[in-house]
Amino acid sequence: MSSKPIKCHKCRNILFQDSCIIDSSLTCNPEQCESYNIKRFMYISEDKVPEWIKQKIEEEQWTKGKIHCEKCNNRIGSFDYISGRKCECGTSVVPPIHLVTSQIDRPILLSNFNNVK
Ligand SMILES: [Zn+2]
Ligand SMILES: [Zn+2]
Repeated sequence: MSSKPIKCHKCRNILFQDSCIIDSSLTCNPEQCESYNIKRFMYISEDKVPEWIKQKIEEEQWTKGKIHCEKCNNRIGSFDYISGRKCECGTSVVPPIHLVTSQIDRPILLSNFNNVK
């Protein structure tokens, strides 16, 4: 699988490569989980956190905070290392760094995403 750039939805700044994304299929059961089907959030693999996001997390001393696009300051997601986050369906704990799908452009998912609207 080749990696593709993920861009800020607003300014098209390249944020990172999609190789660091974990699909929500790994976090929840598609039959029970609305969030999985809507794909409202995406998650970043903890061993592939992009350098600039890691820096933000370190600035907050591994607590929690929001992730903004470095160029236009659009809020693209957030992280929470304190309490952890549960998936919207409540059944599973999701990875600490999540991205809001509607705020980023991910080439492969775009067609799916448009169908949901
Ligand atoms: Zn779920
Ligand atoms: Zn931006």
